[in-house]
Amino acid sequence: MNAIKSIKEILFPEKFTCLFCGREIFHGELFCEDCRKEVFYTGAEICEKCGRRTKERTAVCSYCRGRETYFSTARSPFVYKGAISALIKRMKFGGAKYVAEELVSDALYSFHSIGKEFDFIAFVPMTEKGLKKRGFNQSELIARALSEKTGIEVKDVLSRKEGSADQVGLKRAEREKNVKGRFSLKDRRAVKDKRILLIDDVMTTGATVNEISRIFYNAGAAETCVLTLCCAEVK
Ligand SMILES: [Zn+2]
Ligand SMILES: [Zn+2]
Repeated sequence: MNAIKSIKEILFPEKFTCLFCGREIFHGELFCEDCRKEVFYTGAEICEKCGRRTKERTAVCSYCRGRETYFSTARSPFVYKGAISALIKRMKFGGAKYVAEELVSDALYSFHSIGKEFDFIAFVPMTEKGLKKRGFNQSELIARALSEKTGIEVKDVLSRKEGSADQVGLKRAEREKNVKGRFSLKDRRAVKDKRILLIDDVMTTGATVNEISRIFYNAGAAETCVLTLCCAEVK
């Protein structure tokens, strides 16, 4: 280790480089000034149901209107674009596990904005093959980081069948069809009468989290809320 770095670590123990570009920063923020321009928060103008940032003030966005949803609320701190979308890809495909831990401080704000109590935290599972290949499940990392901050335990209650790994490039109706029947509960009793917070990294159409919420609902869960690091904007 070089000596200069170690002195900095003593003086600035929490953060001293930008999470996105690695540039030195001398404050406790995650991003440097330039990168902050590429970080988009969902903010206050969001769909009450799914938490997506909406163009105009509206109670329910075009994704949620007329759609059967099995979760009561979904929230995300970030919009899935710019630096955040690049960081999520760095985490998923480049093994940058620290991204989950760093961004979870913002997820904590979204957690508090839901304003509910939960019996446990669940996460969207990967297929066995997918997990072997990547070595970790990013949704589980986020769930465990959030658990450390909130004291709510994480339960590994779901499994995912092979063949459902790739949702990329599919339209909403195709995604909904693609996720049907792909997830199952390891133990139905674990969710009965429980208030569950479901975690994923990204919410695009919401097909995955809705399908899992449906499974929880059918197994007698009291309520499911969803928290993701980021979500796609309403088009
Ligand atoms: Zn930067
Ligand atoms: Zn919505």
